Amino acid sequence: MSETPEADSTTPQSPMTAGQSLPAASLPREVPAAPRKTGRRAPALRRTIFDLKTAVLMRRDRQALAAMRVIDVSSGAEVSRLTDERSAAIALHAFRFTPYYRRRFEDAGFTEADVARPENFASLPILTKQDVHDAGDALVASDRPARDRLVSRTGGSTGRPLVVYNDRSAPTAAMWWRIYGWWDVHPGDDSAFIYRQSRAGLRRLSHAVQWWPTRQILLDARGTTDADVERFLVELARVRPALLVGYVEGVTEFARRVQATGAAIPPLTAVSVTASMLQSGQRELIEAVLGVPVYDTYRTAEIPWVAAQCRERNGLHVLADHRRLEVVDAAGAPLAAGETGDVLVTDLSNHAFPLVRYAIGDRTRSLAGECGCGRPLPRIAPIEGRVADALRTPGGRLLSGGLGSLFVDNPGTIAQFQIQQRADFSVVVRYVPVGDAAASAAAGRAAAEKVAGFLSHEVPVTAEAVTEIENIGGKARMVVSDLAI
Ligand SMILES: [Zn+2]
Repeated sequence: MSETPEADSTTPQSPMTAGQSLPAASLPREVPAAPRKTGRRAPALRRTIFDLKTAVLMRRDRQALAAMRVIDVSSGAEVSRLTDERSAAIALHAFRFTPYYRRRFEDAGFTEADVARPENFASLPILTKQDVHDAGDALVASDRPARDRLVSRTGGSTGRPLVVYNDRSAPTAAMWWRIYGWWDVHPGDDSAFIYRQSRAGLRRLSHAVQWWPTRQILLDARGTTDADVERFLVELARVRPALLVGYVEGVTEFARRVQATGAAIPPLTAVSVTASMLQSGQRELIEAVLGVPVYDTYRTAEIPWVAAQCRERNGLHVLADHRRLEVVDAAGAPLAAGETGDVLVTDLSNHAFPLVRYAIGDRTRSLAGECGCGRPLPRIAPIEGRVADALRTPGGRLLSGGLGSLFVDNPGTIAQFQIQQRADFSVVVRYVPVGDAAASAAAGRAAAEKVAGFLSHEVPVTAEAVTEIENIGGKARMVVSDLAI
């Protein structure tokens, strides 16, 4: 089985990859065995077939999910012990098998024995995006085969393209199966997505065959017209999915249109959003129109599935058995619960391209106390600092997401870019050229043409070389809009 429709090289990374695998007995414990009374057709059969298929094809993920479910009912002390143990283990692995970390840790005065001690972990050097950019393949672990590396490109909210690798042998599928379970959604249930279409033709057909009988429908967030929404509504009524997943802006815009037209939406179980900060007005709108809870998730191209809300929706639970999340101040010192700072994430299950104490460019604060759901996983407040990257046309077309990969086809031509939409709807793609000036200029023109195409050529789009991109609050935004919305 392969990834779900949202996955492409620049979105939050593929939840389901080949060779991964749910304990046969059961998917997440909250999932009711009986079909729902919502008129959906045979969800129990779909679930059974999904379980049978994954028991054979994704055995490792099934085993990983079983272990995660044990963690979900353990204690805070047990989770903390496991996080510490695995943090030290990944740091040691990085030290042993990547030239970058060995040099970096040694330069900071750490021996191999020091790195192996959990109490030293929070003193190890921080890995910045610039470091990842500069280190390149020196971050690749020498003991893992190349087939374990899944390339993942991030344009990210800073507009700076970065190539990283996810670990194919990590139990990434089990992570989203676990989180779906928190929401009473079974991974074999039908789903709807408001994302970018990332596969076409045979690839799309092959994906549908792999997922059979689970059905997935998509509203392409790259450019959405009334006709597109109309088609999507017809599909929703036919498939009656349990879950709707999408970018915040895309789902909000969809909810707005549904509200404006009074269209009927079949009952969903949950809505899940990602990729930008969910503001409370958006949550209220989506929940009022779609009539189900909206769950915020923290997913990134570099580290898939970092944290997610449970049904309490009181902060996001960090998947602390597979990710360590630290909140630090500008000097790198740890902050107490409630204090907002920079996020450092360590992927405890990426052995192919270790990311240890990675400053991912997001800000949040950790939350004290226990969650009402009883899960011992630590919680953070919703991410601050990610920005909604939306462009609009006078005709009502909305482009939400899909901009991070503008320069992916022309690697090495720019250092950074930013898109500004002016109050008259015109758009300018600003980029900081590197290397050959002619190649950079051509890449800039190509990016502007792409954006113009996404916006159906309704508005003028130009490219402009600049020496630097303006930073606001220490973080360059990928999209700056002067439109009054
Ligand atoms: Zn909870």
